[in-house]
This record gives sequence, structure tokens and C-alpha cells, in this order.
Amino acid sequence: CGIVGYIGDKQAQEVLLEGLSRLEYRGYDSAGIATIENGVIRVEKKKGRLKNLEDFLAKEPLAGNVGIGHTRWATHGVPSDVNAHPHCSLNNEIAVVHNGIIENYMALKEELIGLGHQFISDTDTEVIAHLLNELYTGDIVETIQMALKRLRGSYALGVLCANEPDKIIAVRKDSPLIVGLGQGENFIASDIPAILKYTKNVYLLENGEMAILTKNDIKILNAKGETVNKEVFVVDWDP
Ligand code: GLU
Repeated sequence: CGIVGYIGDKQAQEVLLEGLSRLEYRGYDSAGIATIENGVIRVEKKKGRLKNLEDFLAKEPLAGNVGIGHTRWATHGVPSDVNAHPHCSLNNEIAVVHNGIIENYMALKEELIGLGHQFISDTDTEVIAHLLNELYTGDIVETIQMALKRLRGSYALGVLCANEPDKIIAVRKDSPLIVGLGQGENFIASDIPAILKYTKNVYLLENGEMAILTKNDIKILNAKGETVNKEVFVVDWDP
């Protein structure tokens, strides 16, 4: 139900947990984060209050300056640690957080199982991670563009790829998602309050738009893959 993403010089875990706490008002049943460190994606997720995840991570932190986080409001699969996001492909090559519903997930899941993918959760979201892994060309942006053609339903997505550890990809259709512009750091979030502590400059993504974030740059593409020159929206209220 809530998404946060961070790329910059700070420890991502800290920013992600802060951001998720600002999204608690949206309601949720579980929470999780993924970070990349030295090209390896690590994930931690817990059913219940964000506090459960925070307490765990206080003892066993996930290091890294790139990460995505999620608070889940279950639609497919009971609230549980396994069904919580992020969801990953085998060996954590790709990690995905998702708000929304993938309507054709059953057909995709059967197809991917036929291709040898093993699923561990009951969510609709997990098919996205496996689909991206299946289609991966060596370019995660191109791969997501291909995958989106196969997805029906609604989504706001945050994607990490272990092979391309210097970026976060965000894309939305019928679920909200914004991008925050920092100095040497950038953010994604489902809503402005999640990142207001760090920046007041945001891009409000339109349906079909994709954002490619590195720590020093943000590129926005439309559904056709063309570059969009977006206007910065300056938030004029305080956290
Ligand atoms: N449909 C997904 C799930 O049940 C995402 C739910 C959400 O938006 O939090 O896991």
C-alpha cells in the first residue's frame, strides 16, 4: 500500500524506514525493505507493525546506499512474512515492490512455472519479479518496458536489479507514485509525506510514465519510451 525508494550516499535502510513510517496512515499489514550492497540484493520483511521490522533491522541492519521499501495491504495471499514485499526472482537478481493488482497473474504464473521458475509466495506481485528475470536482456529499463506489455491491472512499481546496482526504476499505472529530487540523492514514494523530510522538489508521475533514478540524475520516459521533460513541483507545505 506504500512504496519508498532511495539512492544516494545515506544508508538506505534509515531513509526507507523513515519514509515508510510516514505512510503508515495508509494502512498496512506487513512491511519490508531491500537494499543493494556490493552488487548483492538483501531483503528483510515482517508481518505486522513497521516496528517489528525496525526492531529486527536495529539488530541486523541491511547496509547499502540503494534500496526500496514497502508497506503491504494484502489483496492476493494472506498477510505473512513470505507474502510481504519486496519480492525477488531466484538468487535475488531482481527485487520488486508493488502497489495494486496484477489481474492476469495466474496465467503468467503458470507460464513462468512451465519455464522452470519456482514461486514461494501467494501474491500476484511475485510474477513481476520472475517475469523480469525471465525477460532480462542486460538492460533493466528495456526489460521492464517489455514486461509491462504482459501485465494487466494496476501498479506502482519500484525495481532493483543486482546487475545494475546504481539505479532504481519506478513506473506507475492507476496507482500513485512520485519522485523526489535531492542533491546527490533521489527518492521514489507513493505519496509526498514519505520524502518531505529530505526534499520538497518532486515529479508527479503520470500514468504510464517511468522514472530511472541514479544518485545524480533522474530520467523520465513516457509509455512509448520517449524522454519526457517534466516540470518540478515544489511542495509548499511542511512535514
Ligand atoms: N497485490 C499486492 C499484494 O497483495 C500488493 C498489495 C498492495 O498494494 O499493498 O501483495
